[in-house]
Amino acid sequence: MALTTYVQFRRQAEELVREVGFDQPPVNQYKLAERLNIEIVEMTLPSWFFGVLINLKGDFYITLNKGMPEHRKNFTIAHEIAHHQLHGTELAYMKNCKRDFFHREADVFAAELCMPTFILIKEARKWCNDYKWLAKEFSVSETAMVRKLQELGILRNSGYECRS
Ligand SMILES: [Zn+2]
Repeated sequence: MALTTYVQFRRQAEELVREVGFDQPPVNQYKLAERLNIEIVEMTLPSWFFGVLINLKGDFYITLNKGMPEHRKNFTIAHEIAHHQLHGTELAYMKNCKRDFFHREADVFAAELCMPTFILIKEARKWCNDYKWLAKEFSVSETAMVRKLQELGILRNSGYECRS
């Protein structure tokens, strides 16, 4: 995918976060979904099933696996919101082990929804790039946080350091 597409997705995600009024972590994905009139239905589902976006005659629902930890619920909702924003006219996308082009696009968008760059940069500075703490703050996995910090050029390896 072209770099410009990524930049565009991130900008679009940031606009949504700003519109709902978030300026500090965590970015509550339930609130973003509510704003977009997407209803979240939590259900007991097999562990490989994270979530799915359903379009029922123009009404959108996210079916979410009830048994997942908070950070995974948060990222999954963001991922499905991304499908709604980027691929909304299609019927349904499932997030599971099978990855494809659409899911990768959705992950870029979702990472920005959960860890908006304009908020993350400030927090990373405040907490000396402590990715473990930042992951808790933003309610994402440590892996997702490290990946985002590396993308931003804030973290160079899996460690962190305080530059004062
Ligand atoms: Zn997906």
